[in-house]
Parts: sequence; C-alpha cells; structure tokens
Amino acid sequence: MIFRSGIVVLLSITTFMAYGQVNYEVRGTVQNCVNVREEPRTSASSVGCLSANTNVIVTETVPFWRKITFDNNEGWIAKKFIIPTEQPPAPQTDRWLEVHFVDVGQGDAIWIVTPDDGIDGNGRFEGLNIVIDGGPYSADDSNPLLPYLESRGHHGAVIDALIVTHPHVDHYRGAETLVRHFVIDHYYDPGFPATQIGYNAFVDSLTSTETAVNNIHRGMNNFGVLDWGSELNAEILYSWPGVNTGLGSGSTRDNNTSIVLKLTYGNQSFLFMGDAEGKTRTGSVDNPKYVEKMLLDQNVDLSASVLKIAHHGSETSSTTDFISAVSPEIVVVQSGRKCFNGRQLPDMTTLQRYCDSNSATRFYRTDHNDESLLESDAVNGDHIVFRTNGQMLEVLSGAESNCSNLPAQVPMPQC
Ligand SMILES: [Zn+2]
Repeated sequence: MIFRSGIVVLLSITTFMAYGQVNYEVRGTVQNCVNVREEPRTSASSVGCLSANTNVIVTETVPFWRKITFDNNEGWIAKKFIIPTEQPPAPQTDRWLEVHFVDVGQGDAIWIVTPDDGIDGNGRFEGLNIVIDGGPYSADDSNPLLPYLESRGHHGAVIDALIVTHPHVDHYRGAETLVRHFVIDHYYDPGFPATQIGYNAFVDSLTSTETAVNNIHRGMNNFGVLDWGSELNAEILYSWPGVNTGLGSGSTRDNNTSIVLKLTYGNQSFLFMGDAEGKTRTGSVDNPKYVEKMLLDQNVDLSASVLKIAHHGSETSSTTDFISAVSPEIVVVQSGRKCFNGRQLPDMTTLQRYCDSNSATRFYRTDHNDESLLESDAVNGDHIVFRTNGQMLEVLSGAESNCSNLPAQVPMPQC
C-alpha cells in the first residue's frame, strides 16, 4: 500500500539523536515493571522489564522513546516512564524542531515535535509532542494520523498539547481518535458555542472517564501562555474573540473562530492558520475582511518561513495584504479530493497570488498526485515533513512544486 511505503521512507529518516550519557531512573509510580524493547516500538521484543526506581543510563532519544543501558544490557523504553536523577552537561549535538503535515485527505493534521536534548523537565528542549487538528476520520482504521503517531510512539503516549482549531469535521473528528489512544496533557479549542451535535459530543467526551485529558483550555481567556520550551516562541495570534462581530455567518463564522498559531525557533517560523478567512469567495483580494483584517489591524508580526495556508487553499483566504505581511518562502496545503461548490481545493488562483507576490514561493501539498483518486481514496501518504535547528530549514518528506510549474485548476466533472 502506498501509505505504508510512505511510513517506511519516513522511519528511515527519523532523527536519532545521541547526546552523551545521562543518568535516569524508572519512575517511582511504576507498578510491576516496564518493558524495555529491542526497537522503539511496542511491537518489538522485550529485552527486559524494569521495576520502579531502577537506575538506567539514557544514550539516545527519538520522539516518545529513550534508548537506555541497564545491567550490561540495552534497549528502548517509553519516555514517560523515566526521570533524570542528575543535571547532566549541556548536550553537544544539534537540536531540531520537526513539523509533520500528515496526509489525512481533505483536512488538517499536524504533528510537531519540539527540540529534544534528552534532559526532561528543565524547561528547554523538552521534546514535546503537539498536535494541531486530527483530520476528518474518527474510526481507528480510517484515520491515517493514528498509525503515523503510534508507529513512532506507542499506545498511551503523552501528547503534550492538542489544539482543535475550530468545530468542523475535517479538523476535530480525527482528534476523537487521539483522545481514545493517547494521554492528552493540554487540550485547546476556541471555546465557540458551536451547534454541531458531533462536535459537542466530542467536547463532552474530553471529560469522560474513558479518555485521559489532563487540562482543558477552551477559549482565549483560558489559554494562558504557551510554554513549549524556552528555546521556542509559541503564540496564539488569534482565536474566537467571544463575539461574532465581523466574522460572517454559518460556516464562514465557524472558520473564523479558528485558532491561529505562530511557532518560532531561531530564524525559522511556522504560521498555522486553521481555516481562518480573509474574504468572501467573490470578494476583492485587495480588501481584507474577517480574521486576516483583524490580524493586519493588530500589527502583529505575521512573517513566517512556512505558512500552513488557511482553509485548504480556498479562495476565501490569502488577500494580497496578508500575503505580503506573511511573506512565506514555503506554502503548505493540506487538502484532498473533496468537491466544494464545483471545485476542489486548493484553488489555483489563490496559490497564484503567492507567486505574484514572490515568484520564488515553493509549495508542498498533501493532495499531490491525487488527481486519479476518488474522494474516498484521497489519502495516499503525501506527508510533508520539515525540520529546523533554528538556522536552516530542511525538507525531510514531500514533493515540491513552484511558481513555474503551478498546475492549472483541475477540472472535476463529477463535482
Ligand atoms: Zn477545513
């Protein structure tokens, strides 16, 4: 299957970080014992089982896992079961921020791993796992985000922050899967009083005994300051302001409740727009409205090296003033094969505006080569992965297109 081969490629490029040896112990709260595995996944064979307070030495780190030595043996243990027993020397190696845009078809699903030095709990380089939206599929066997995360982590791993940008199915339904399979430390959404029954059921489920969500932050007043490590600046630039003035109505208004997040590491920054809008479908590109207008009026620094384009590249976003303010080098589009008003997303006239502003703009799309696929088959492993050490930005996965080969709008007769 194409999707599985995508995973194999990614696993081969996963960052293995060696950083010297650090003394740890198995957490005192562990009951019975914790398995140590041959490889960093729960399906790998066990090479030992460690009881509480056993001393171990951590030698390598990958997301969710630590490689340890113990009793002249070595293996991988889930990160959440051990704590450091000493303050080790500063690490020597580079520390990378990873951002994964997972192909979930028509919808958003973003996994962020913050830089990790293998030293937990000192407020920097903590290797946090953050997810923004979960895509459109809730069932375990249809949500590509679940195998993507579980193949790199394990059932019951900690997602330090889960952000659901707004109450639409292509964003929150996949988050239902996550709350069933992972421990969510902090959950965020706009706190908009949505009328969608499914969304409200999801929000209710966050407090049920079936799920493990430690801290729930609904609405701007409850977000607090995002502290994802002192090496990063994570800022929510916009979320539903508590009133609907200037947000449009119906689906437009729902989109305009979206949480907008900017994440900066050194010289590199990512702007995640959710489905926030900037105009009506037929409105002028030179007259920003809605969220784009509010952001521009506030004079916040919107500049970003990588922009997760708003609303799957719809014509309802990306006004010219907004594009100049962000001035992205790279535009990421998360979309599939769904038909909206007789066309699919992204809208090529929207992408063209980025080229008109900067002809060197590069694009990465999760709907790459999806033209032959039916709507229901639009998930085919076009994951887009970046990493940055705060200086350079590397593309680990994804097919690039640019302004010289921007395709024409794909006609869709059945639309
Ligand atoms: Zn959407």
